[in-house]
Order: sequence, then structure tokens, then C-alpha cells
Amino acid sequence: MRIAIASGKGGTGKTTVATNLAFYLKHFDNTDVTLIDCDVEEPNSHIFLRPDCQEPKVVTVPVPVVQEDLCTACGKCAEICQFNAIACVKEKVLIFPELCHGCGGCLLVCPTGAITEKQREIGVVENGKGKDIKLVYGRLHVGEAMSPPLIRAVKEFSPVTTDEIQLIDCPPGTSCPVITAVSGSDFVLLVTEPTPFGLNDLKLAVEMVRILDIPFAVGINRSTADNNMVQDYCRTEGIPVILNIPHDRRIAEAYSTGKLILESLPEYHEQFSQVLGYIKGVLS
Ligand code: SF4
Ligand code: SF4
Repeated sequence: MRIAIASGKGGTGKTTVATNLAFYLKHFDNTDVTLIDCDVEEPNSHIFLRPDCQEPKVVTVPVPVVQEDLCTACGKCAEICQFNAIACVKEKVLIFPELCHGCGGCLLVCPTGAITEKQREIGVVENGKGKDIKLVYGRLHVGEAMSPPLIRAVKEFSPVTTDEIQLIDCPPGTSCPVITAVSGSDFVLLVTEPTPFGLNDLKLAVEMVRILDIPFAVGINRSTADNNMVQDYCRTEGIPVILNIPHDRRIAEAYSTGKLILESLPEYHEQFSQVLGYIKGVLS
């Protein structure tokens, strides 16, 4: 079973939910779990799990290289490239590796065989075990814009097996990196906060998972008694709200010292038990 924890907006508490759910599964449900942190631009699950990491695995993408003596400056490579990653200017071919998606299109259309490929490093996959939970996460190199290939590598590092539950901590937003992270999941828990921005981005995330046709529910973080805008929206749309973490100063204090909610505040066990019960019910 693969459960994705996503949110339309950054800073909603997605990692808090993912790490605590992993902790609940391992320590209170006796289930093996792997947490896969796909938020490769800003991974932070490891701050809470503090894993003993193995040697990182380098991830590369192919980029074209032009052999000038074979190039006739016909411009076909620039014509085919949909990402403006290769240009033919004044009989010279220029390559912009940061824009290249490694699709190999230019290599296929080059009539003289002037294009070959070399590998370009974009980041690393880390893996280890912390608090008895397996953790895999990616770290995209600073300044690198191409996160989906690294997200795919992080997911491939830990293939789905029948004897464990995998939790995917997704990047924020609703664009390519999130779609890459969420794809192949059996269930999506959308984490939001009860603010106008939170609600706006939740609506976008709901549209996304509806298009992907994956069962989903909503979890509200930092909820307050006088702010029901997310609850009202979910009621109108028929979306179940399966987690409600209140605005609790003690959670912020635990978070600031790198502790999980379930390590510091045992009264929240029931909340995570209900989340798991709901998801297992939907997927059984
Ligand atoms: S490999 Fe694809 S994306 Fe990269 S330069 Fe060639 S056509 Fe463009
Ligand atoms: S397609 Fe090949 S020959 Fe034509 S400009 Fe590009 S590299 Fe040169």
C-alpha cells in the first residue's frame, strides 16, 4: 500500500503528518513502513527521524553533446526541442543543460550523428533507518530546476512490496513534481490549514487528485474552533476530513526541537489511529 501525503501549499504540516503517521504505523500498529521523502528541494523528514544514512546514490540525467566537426548547422535539433534547451545561432549549436529534459529528441533527428549524450548530476538519493523507520529521500543540488527525474529515482530506490506500507511525503503545489510523487499511490491525504490561502490551494490539489482518480481525504493542521472554512468546503464537496490537528503550542514546541507529536504528546495517538483505520477501510 502506498499512501501519499500532499498539499497544494508549502508549510501546511505535510511532513509533520507523514513522519507521525510513519511513527504510528511502526510503533503502535506493528507495521513495517518506509517513508519516502519526495520533497527533494527541501527534504526535512530526516530532521525528525535522524537516520543513519548509507552512502548516497548519485542521480544523473542525460544531456546532449555536439561534435562540432560533424555538425552542419542545419538547426533540426533546435526545431525539435520543446524546452528551448538547444539553439542554433550563427552556425553554432548552444546547449542549455539546466533546461534539458533528457528526452533524446535532438539526438534522434540529427542527420549527421553529431549529437551524443553525457550524464549530468542533478542530486543524490539518501537512505537509512531512524527511530526504526526506513527513510529514503532525495536532495536536489542547489540551483537545479529539474526535480522530477530525482523524484522518480527516489521512488524507484524503494519499490512497493506487499509486506510494508509506504508513505510518500510529496513536494508542495500541483505541478509536475507533485504529479510525479503522487503517481502510483493508492490513497492521497491532502494536508491543509484553515486559512484563505490554504483553502485556495486545497481546491487546486483536490482538482489534481480527482483528475488522477486516486481516493483521497483531507487532514487539517493548526485548526481552530472559530475557523470552519475548510470544513465547510469539504462538506459541500463531499470530501471526508479524517484528521484535525488543533493549533496547539505544545506541538510547535516539540517541532522546534525536532521531536514528533507522538513522542511528546501521547493524547494524539487516537487521531493517527483513526486516519489509518479510515485509509485501510477505503482500500480493503
Ligand atoms: S534531449 Fe530533449 S530536451 Fe534535451 S536538448 Fe535534446 S530535445 Fe531538448
Ligand atoms: S541537428 Fe545535428 S547537424 Fe543539425 S544543427 Fe543540430 S547538431 Fe548540428
